Amino acid sequence: MKGATMGGGVVPGPSEGSDGRGAAPEEGPAETTGVSLQDRRLRDVGSSQGAMRVTARVLTAERREIARKDGVGKLAVLSGLLSDGTATMRFSWWDPPSVDLERGSVLRVTNPQVRTWRDRPELSFGWKTQVEFASELELPRLEDSELLERHLSELRPGEEGFRVLAKVLLSESRTLTVGERKRVIRSGLLGDSSGRMAFTAWVDLDLPVDSVVEIFGASARPFQGELQVVMDERSRVERRPEVELLSMGGLATERPVEIGWLEERPEGPGRRAIEGVVVELRSPSGLIHRCPHCSRSLVKGFCREHGPSRGEPDLRARLVLDDGTGSVTAQLSRECVENLLGLDLPKAIELARERLDPTAVQELLSERVLTHRLRLLGRAVPGLWGLTFFVDRVLPLTPEATVVEEANRLLRTPDASLREGP
Ligand SMILES: [Zn+2]
Repeated sequence: MKGATMGGGVVPGPSEGSDGRGAAPEEGPAETTGVSLQDRRLRDVGSSQGAMRVTARVLTAERREIARKDGVGKLAVLSGLLSDGTATMRFSWWDPPSVDLERGSVLRVTNPQVRTWRDRPELSFGWKTQVEFASELELPRLEDSELLERHLSELRPGEEGFRVLAKVLLSESRTLTVGERKRVIRSGLLGDSSGRMAFTAWVDLDLPVDSVVEIFGASARPFQGELQVVMDERSRVERRPEVELLSMGGLATERPVEIGWLEERPEGPGRRAIEGVVVELRSPSGLIHRCPHCSRSLVKGFCREHGPSRGEPDLRARLVLDDGTGSVTAQLSRECVENLLGLDLPKAIELARERLDPTAVQELLSERVLTHRLRLLGRAVPGLWGLTFFVDRVLPLTPEATVVEEANRLLRTPDASLREGP
């Protein structure tokens, strides 16, 4: 009769409640345990030993009833996700009180059990566990040294407790009225050497356009399929000199030169960034076959030097990029094309085979790039037919209008996106 004995030691009522029972949380070890109690970060819970206490925010909570193993009666369980800024973790509260657990509320949990499910730790609140409501201010404050340094492209959904150095490429603020309170919410776009990512700050942080900032204690959350950097009252922003970011040698923040300017100075040194709209994709692009002797692309199975051949499969693209001041033919190698397609060479070969059509890959590439905006890093080489741009790296750009639109949509539905779980 295990289930019948379960009952958490619960102090119900939010901390701002007037009944006093949930207010004024006591410091120090909980009275229910004689052993010393350690405050733990969720990130460290999996490797922790002994009695612990965690303080974390409720991201989601759902009440269910499940049939007991012995088939006699049902067992109530409240389960969902908790976050404390270092990790997000699943919890199950067995035989919970009838009080509703609201999203965003903060719990202090003494003596939870740690279980492992599919190699991930989870918290289980049973009869030995004490659960109390706490205030936002009691959430653990992360030291800078606890935050992991990340590039934007390294962030994964649900990741928390990191720091990131980036340039603010777009930034808009908006005032929302939540109940009787007004709050300023800021959204926009960040860029670093690895890429770009939208952000939402649920508090008014110092994030003006064109500033370079280090963001401490943010989280990465998906919103409508796109990952975002999300900041809240635990996040902090510090301005940095631009040179710190430039030293990372990034494409995302590199200021592009005008193609017209480049046409007049084709002999200029080194690599340059250009940015424009793809107005044409030239054949053959996509999946091609190269002569094993000279690497020329075969035309209908023929090399013009070496005759018929089966050839080696490869990916390439020749596209015309226009920025309004001029245009170039850009040559993209396999790596860049894989990046644009989101497919590697073996997958591209498979696609052509499935469709029984060798031009299927070119068609897909055409959908992905034609009329889209790209930033390219590479070298310009003059030729008989104008400039050819040999591309080292490619960065597809979300059209800025779309980003602002998305940010506005986000702001209209704050609840749906507020601290979305992974
Ligand atoms: Zn050949």
